[in-house]
Amino acid sequence: MSIQAARDVFADLVLGGRCVGCGRPGRPLCQPCAATLPTLAHPSWPNPVPAGLVTPWSGAAYEGLTRSMVVAHKERRVLALRRPLAGILAAAAAAAVPFGLPVVLVPVPSRPGSARARGHDPTDALTRDAARLLRGRGYDASRARLLVSRGAVADQAGLDAPARAANLAGSMFCPTARLRRVAGRRMHIVVCDDVMTTGATAREAQRALEAVGLGVAGIATVAATRLRRPP
Ligand SMILES: [Zn+2]
Repeated sequence: MSIQAARDVFADLVLGGRCVGCGRPGRPLCQPCAATLPTLAHPSWPNPVPAGLVTPWSGAAYEGLTRSMVVAHKERRVLALRRPLAGILAAAAAAAVPFGLPVVLVPVPSRPGSARARGHDPTDALTRDAARLLRGRGYDASRARLLVSRGAVADQAGLDAPARAANLAGSMFCPTARLRRVAGRRMHIVVCDDVMTTGATAREAQRALEAVGLGVAGIATVAATRLRRPP
């Protein structure tokens, strides 16, 4: 038995750990499942496209293994999944900006209360790790929490695209103190989130950045829900 396999068995005995993909006892993501994760990103336009949205990039469809990973990381705080999820997000961000240009990853802000309730801010954590992974590949990459949520936003679950857009309109802003941190920097901003659904959240983040004079080069998400084309 290899050391890793022994560790997996130990983890299962002590922690009851299982792979979120296949249920194999051991690590939260087994090696065979990890090997199937995407390494390239693709444009992931929602349907309908929110007016003016810059190009969104995603590494995967929001289903199967990727969905299980996102949910486990966000809701059950399975932190071992952060690195592989950040790897997918990094691929999406890399697709949004040509290599060699300075890139700043801006996480979509969580609603006040939600991050505290979970004890962590999963989107910000993924964004921070994605920037680190890009630096490791030679990118001039950083993460900047430029956006803040105003907080008077209802849960998006169950809302259709127009309702989501209306719910989110004006819900984010860039405080002057945060804007000062990046003032005068030459950079290409990529808005980062875990999942693209209708694009309303990404569009609101883009609007809030543009409202203070910051251009947005693209949107990067780990996964996107599949296009639901009209019948
Ligand atoms: Zn597995």
